[in-house]
Amino acid sequence: MLTTSLTRRSLTRHALGWLVPPRCALCDRRGQDSPLSGWGLDLCADCEAACPPAPDSLAPPPGCDAVWAAHIYASPVDTLVRELKFDGVLAPARVLGMLMAAHRAPAGELPDCIVPVPLGRQRFAERGFNQAQEIARHAARHLRLPVQARLLHRTRDTEAQSGLGAAERQGNLAGAFAIGRGRPPPRVALVDDVLTTGSTVAAAARVLKEAGAQWVEAWVAARTLPRTNLDDGEPQ
Ligand SMILES: [Zn+2]
Repeated sequence: MLTTSLTRRSLTRHALGWLVPPRCALCDRRGQDSPLSGWGLDLCADCEAACPPAPDSLAPPPGCDAVWAAHIYASPVDTLVRELKFDGVLAPARVLGMLMAAHRAPAGELPDCIVPVPLGRQRFAERGFNQAQEIARHAARHLRLPVQARLLHRTRDTEAQSGLGAAERQGNLAGAFAIGRGRPPPRVALVDDVLTTGSTVAAAARVLKEAGAQWVEAWVAARTLPRTNLDDGEPQ
């Protein structure tokens, strides 16, 4: 039955792909077939090739057991993130989520669930959505993993991280996260849009570990290179 249902779903995706072909979120040319499933990738081959890959040898943020960053936060990836985050265009979340899933999938055993880094109440109300959750939703769909969006809760809105030093960032995030509904499974993927110093995911990972998670890996759409003055996945 499961096979039949998956086949039906896959056929539906191909049919949708034929009716609504994928369109590049950056240049509006025809997109590509997805490397993972029947869903199309809303990014053309040229624009995908222009997205700079992140180096493999990234040290995990404190409290995290591994980190996966598909790309460096530079052109044209920064355009996708900024459109999502500041212009309220949701299409880039689908691209970023799919690229995130394609980057993580070949590395083997997946975690039990995906937890997006939550936004504070005020920022969520201003933006109308959580960009990390939107990216997580698409990555989860491709990897067939559950998203536990209410597991982690932001207790307060924090000051924007950009412009703060490392110590100030940690202080800014002290007590900013708490467990909301449910308990974390043993292995969790914590999803955020951009990673700079890692202080945001470190603070969230610490709370998940205290609540019983044994393994927390950070998945980010992009990470900044050292000494760039960019934001930290910290909603602004
Ligand atoms: Zn393109």
